[in-house]
Amino acid sequence: MSTFSLDPGPDQIAVRDWLHGFAADVMRPAAAEWDEREETPWPVIQEAAKLGIYSLDFYAQQYFDPSGVGIPIAMEELFWGDAGIGLSIVGTTLAAVAVLANGTEEQIGTWAPQMFGTPDDVKVAAFCSSEPDAGSDVSALRTRAVYDEAKDEWVLNGTKTWATNGGIAAVHVVVATVDPALGARGQASFVVPPGTPGLSQGQKFKKHGIRASHTAEVVLDGVRVPGHCLLGGKEKLDERLARARERAAAAANGDAKGASGKGASGKNAAMATFEASRPAVGAQAIGIARAAYEVALDYARTRVQFGRPIIDNQGVAFTLADMKTRIDASRLLVWRASWMAANQQPFTSAEGSMSKLYAGETAKWVTAQAMQILGGNGFTREYPVERMHRDSAIYSIFEGTSEIQRLVIARTISGMPIR
Ligand SMILES: Cc1cc2nc3c(=O)[nH]c(=O)nc-3n(C[C@H](O)[C@H](O)[C@H](O)COP(=O)(O)OP(=O)(O)OC[C@H]3O[C@@H](n4cnc5c(N)ncnc54)[C@H](O)[C@@H]3O)c2cc1C
Repeated sequence: MSTFSLDPGPDQIAVRDWLHGFAADVMRPAAAEWDEREETPWPVIQEAAKLGIYSLDFYAQQYFDPSGVGIPIAMEELFWGDAGIGLSIVGTTLAAVAVLANGTEEQIGTWAPQMFGTPDDVKVAAFCSSEPDAGSDVSALRTRAVYDEAKDEWVLNGTKTWATNGGIAAVHVVVATVDPALGARGQASFVVPPGTPGLSQGQKFKKHGIRASHTAEVVLDGVRVPGHCLLGGKEKLDERLARARERAAAAANGDAKGASGKGASGKNAAMATFEASRPAVGAQAIGIARAAYEVALDYARTRVQFGRPIIDNQGVAFTLADMKTRIDASRLLVWRASWMAANQQPFTSAEGSMSKLYAGETAKWVTAQAMQILGGNGFTREYPVERMHRDSAIYSIFEGTSEIQRLVIARTISGMPIR
């Protein structure tokens, strides 16, 4: 009996083909327009919602697919269609995953549906972790959450930056520090319900790529949320903080186990969540790379110079061979990590980071090669590879930069506190 298979199976193939149709017929024709407008493509999100592609049910179904490849297949297909619109469609899932990973069943049931709205009244959600002085260094967050016991409310103050859908979201999930002395272990995530006073959008950023996706600052000025908006609940937070304080005290006394910062539960829960979500981001990068590769292959076959198609030159053909090889290698890394995460296999070599690192760098490299193969046309907005190249650049920056992925991999394989 063989247990090894790279065949996604009929259900996933059907989903892939369905999404491919939407990507080709709806997203591709709209891509250049929304890139130029630099606005959230609400009509496309609405269309996706009507078809069931923008819905909690759809993502939950893919998320819980036991093979693990449901999400990567969906991401690759949507981002093959267009990355900016793709991120507008799936940006909500960042916040949804935070609630799914940290919330109680009741919290998931309350907030996840409100993040998506309904096909007649679509909504988006935002996940707000990064701050002006806390990007890669998540432990440096300054946004404070203080508990007002008399009212059973949390009061949030601070400024978040780079938030996808920040300020236009119905539901914002905000990571804040409840005990700054504990660094990342003193943080918690809060839901800010729709229309909560004190939350406002700051600057909206003008970007190099994925311009159809809204990225903005989120200002929290005395935002009061009910106690039940703390994801996971107060009891669990208090237990977690008590453990973290014990570890900090042990570290101060020179106890090696405390100093390692791991303790009984092993790994920092937030980092484990990031690791698990990274393959999905890698799959988005693969979608962009595959799209650019296909345009370049087609162009190389048909563009004639010196009396023959340019693909007749080994220099061009070998580049295409390398492009395809790197795309397929990226997909194998992403599928492996996704399968491992879905089957509770520990990432003993930081396989999630590996997949995001390699796929992100591949997208940047492949789209650059595609521009070169298209020559002058590749440099113009008459052809889509210029946009794809701009879009790909974010994949070595968000969800952990390439350097941070290397740091995670290096620490994991060596067990050393590499800086
Ligand atoms: C379009 C866009 C959308 C985003 N969406 C969201 C979102 O929805 N929610 C959210 O919370 N955040 C979001 N982000 C933020 C994103 O995750 C951060 O930009 C990213 O984590 C990097 O942080 P930084 O920009 O502060 O860079 P910095 O951390 O300042 O890094 C600058 C450079 O230094 C390098 N560097 C830093 N530390 C080290 C180290 N120890 N070793 C080696 N090199 C190092 C980095 O790799 C990078 O090259 C988004 C960002 C963008 C641009």
